[in-house]
Amino acid sequence: MYKKYSIYIHIPFCKARCSYCAFVSCTDLSVAESYFSKLFAEMDRYADKTKPIYTIYLGGGTPSYAGAYWLDKIFAKLNECFDLSHIEEITVECNPESTTDQLLTCLHNCGVTRLSFGLQSVNDGTLKRIGRLHGYKDFTEALYKAVSHGFANINADLIIGLPESHADFIRTVCTAAVLPLNHISLYALELHRGTSLYADANGKNFFSDDEQADMYDEAAEILSKHGFKRYEISNFAKVNCECKHNLHYWREGRYFAFGASASGFVDNMRFTNCMSVSDYIDKPIELLRESCEQIDVAEEANEFAMLGLRLDDGISLSEFEKRFGADFMKFFSAAKSLVGRGLLICRGDRLQVPRDKFYVINSILSELWHSQNE
Ligand code: SF4
Repeated sequence: MYKKYSIYIHIPFCKARCSYCAFVSCTDLSVAESYFSKLFAEMDRYADKTKPIYTIYLGGGTPSYAGAYWLDKIFAKLNECFDLSHIEEITVECNPESTTDQLLTCLHNCGVTRLSFGLQSVNDGTLKRIGRLHGYKDFTEALYKAVSHGFANINADLIIGLPESHADFIRTVCTAAVLPLNHISLYALELHRGTSLYADANGKNFFSDDEQADMYDEAAEILSKHGFKRYEISNFAKVNCECKHNLHYWREGRYFAFGASASGFVDNMRFTNCMSVSDYIDKPIELLRESCEQIDVAEEANEFAMLGLRLDDGISLSEFEKRFGADFMKFFSAAKSLVGRGLLICRGDRLQVPRDKFYVINSILSELWHSQNE
């Protein structure tokens, strides 16, 4: 039996759709009542007080846009269905324009410990072009409001590769690095077919891979100078401020998941709910999970390696052996060669991707993945 469980809840509502967005989101708040009724029914169905919950994450969409009324009900339902007496972290994603005093008071009263803001860029022209509803000033107002409500654990998401200059991007990183944040997530822009930004860009990235790699390295250096240590390829945190919920995913932990498109991992089963909001509302509860897969020990070992090597401190070889009864270097036949070529390094018991190879981590992991049991 797994000791630590987390919960992810997907809240799909957004006031408007950003031009690059490929997440499951919906701008029609008139279906909120039906959506949340189904969400609560789903939580009732999978209620389990035997697995103490360690972290909770409300993502979206824009959870803050759903407003205090619904968020309050979600936390009441969570308390009814799960044992939250061991909770260590509760994160709620917020957008600046919907972060009101009323919302912050509600989040505080519900025990939320961490806020995650979608900032993306500090340049108003860029924010407008990608369809964000906030300007930089709206973000700082929301941030300082959150601080004045007692929130000390705050993340901002930034994006590399937006339609702006290299200098604009660096200005964003330098500006964010001195704000009262203790965590910064830095994601590469992904252009998805069918989004308006894809059409705007004629399907081609705004920067080459090499340019983006340089921008990433520069950003990592600036963040490091300001005390943000990289602990995962896209995540930087001040000392002891890593996101426990995300670390739990990367360490192959178990988690419940509720809402449209939410993916969970309970006991040895991974599942994903139906993607569309209307399907989620319409389908009977027993048909919400569109994909369910039992994970066997070999798959779990593979996932443990693939997820753990994304972390700056990598994986423990002895933990791998203890958990899966196999020698890592034999389990993945390419491991020795990757170490020999400097693409993986062994430091005592830890196996890591070297910091200067983080930008090619996907090809390193792919080589490792394909060598399993060769
Ligand atoms: S706020 Fe987030 S989820 Fe909503 S449309 Fe924009 S990118 Fe998508």
